[in-house]
Amino acid sequence: MSARSFGPVILVHGGAGKVAPDLVEVRRAGIRAAAEKGWQTLTAGGSAVEAVEQAVKILEDDPAFNAGRGACLNRDGEIELDASIMDGRDLAAGAIGAVKRIANPVTLARAVMGAGGPILLVGDGARQFAATVGITECVAEALLTERQRTRWAILREEDAENVGTVGAVALDQAGHLAAATSTGGLPLKAPGRVGDSALIGCGTYADDQLGAASCTGNGEAIIKLVLAKTAVEFLRMGEEPMEAARRAVRELTARTGAEVGIILLDSYGRIGVARNTAQMACACILEGNTEPEIFD
Ligand code: ASP
Repeated sequence: MSARSFGPVILVHGGAGKVAPDLVEVRRAGIRAAAEKGWQTLTAGGSAVEAVEQAVKILEDDPAFNAGRGACLNRDGEIELDASIMDGRDLAAGAIGAVKRIANPVTLARAVMGAGGPILLVGDGARQFAATVGITECVAEALLTERQRTRWAILREEDAENVGTVGAVALDQAGHLAAATSTGGLPLKAPGRVGDSALIGCGTYADDQLGAASCTGNGEAIIKLVLAKTAVEFLRMGEEPMEAARRAVRELTARTGAEVGIILLDSYGRIGVARNTAQMACACILEGNTEPEIFD
């Protein structure tokens, strides 16, 4: 897992937190499929940006994860989605926040990045932008699963599972890094609340010169610590990726006590994974290792 690698690498997470027992295997299969998709993209000569988008899309389409279809509901019983993507080549980035009725928020975030204007679009403005780039809206029900509807109904009393945000980091054959994150946010969140997953430096960061990171967990705590950029700064200080990820989570835990997880890749393709939660399903494929390594 800590092997040095200079070839392509894809590392994917499926959210930090407590996973309902019936979802453990389903989630493993999902992140495996996402890592494989990212890997195929990279080995076919695709860019790291393309790979993280493709990997995250697989998980947005998978109702077992809290992103795209299967996202959790806010306090009003609506689905509002956050996502972001960053290209380590030139620090280009795109993000969307509190967007409804978009099946693949990561693709919309990538379109925002491609347009080269604002980095973050929210709400109706993001949906209007989607129309201008040909990303059509779906009906709200297309994203809603029975599981999330039931969970929303019982959540106030229950200690329900709170995981399923998805993210990916990749290094491509040309040596470029990228990161992407996508989420429905926290269940019962306030309408209009935008979390770390839409904020560059907080939930997502990529810089070819240093590394790439995607975070999951309590968004407010992640924002306070600017966690993705903080972990990447530890790489700048000479930390190994595994230690940089652990240190970032340690510092966040000490300062906030909140639950989080992070995946990290440095410019050599070395990986770092850390969490202070019971679980965070991850899958990684490195050069010379076509079978994804799954760990949680
Ligand atoms: N970080 C996400 C948010 O706060 C939620 C999660 O990762 O589970 O919106």
